[in-house]
Amino acid sequence: MSLVFISHPACALHDVGDEHPESPERLDAINDRLIASGLDYSILRAEAKKASRKQLYLAHDKTYVDKLFACTPKEGRVQLDDDTSMMPRSLEAALYAAGANIMAVDMLMQGKAGQAFCAVRPPGHHAERDKAMGFCLFNNVAVAAHWAMHKYKLERIAIVDFDVHHGNGTEDIFFNDPRVLFCSSYEYPFYPFNVGPGNEHILNLPLPAGTDGDTFRQAVTDNWLDKLDAFAPQLILISAGFDGHYEDDMAHFRLVETDYDWITRELKIIANKHCSGRMLSSLEGGYAMSALGRSVTVHIKAMME
Ligand SMILES: [Zn+2]
Repeated sequence: MSLVFISHPACALHDVGDEHPESPERLDAINDRLIASGLDYSILRAEAKKASRKQLYLAHDKTYVDKLFACTPKEGRVQLDDDTSMMPRSLEAALYAAGANIMAVDMLMQGKAGQAFCAVRPPGHHAERDKAMGFCLFNNVAVAAHWAMHKYKLERIAIVDFDVHHGNGTEDIFFNDPRVLFCSSYEYPFYPFNVGPGNEHILNLPLPAGTDGDTFRQAVTDNWLDKLDAFAPQLILISAGFDGHYEDDMAHFRLVETDYDWITRELKIIANKHCSGRMLSSLEGGYAMSALGRSVTVHIKAMME
């Protein structure tokens, strides 16, 4: 079965300034590389629909969702935290980003696609139940997980977050929900700084600045793979951040494309064993354009093979 690549032109309309690293050009870099690689011919493409407020309420406080609808500016920007702001088209982009994840769950669960990649922005994994943070408005993978539990009654969902930053928003939303096994690797100490020890189903994996592929692979093998296998997930979600790439100066990891290929293939083995290969990956960070395009391409290829 095919991999579906889900996006929407509106995801490029969220633009909070030339100096901001989370730029619309990120999606162009991914598309360009996908086409240049020839992989574009082997994937399905689908255009996202907007998430509804009711769908967002599954993962976020109603008052928070309603506040984002209410505070969308007619012009200029509204600052939500130090590095997160909304401009007139931001809400629209965020609704399509969350909606892409919902569509991906539907297509996987209805057997219309084998795997899904959501090329969306703004990203999601720093957004908490009632707080925008770190470029993120709605927590896209958390919305996907809640939708899968609500609509398809899934009871075991694994979320793997290999962005260089801790997925604090995803931890916040699922801290007391053992239906979700959340695995997050991240540079520490680093933004968002206040990371706790997790719990039996929140597997936080702090790694030092300078972490290279060998260290990353060993840590993932030692800390996650057996637990993911034992959890026997019915669906695997990936918070796919590529800002740990060696060429990405957002942080200080030294990962390269083959490391993203490796972790994706390890997760695919678990998905094939427990959930008919069902994987949904949603774009988080990744700010070095060439490295982002190359990394997403190997990630998608590894999910498909
Ligand atoms: Zn990040």
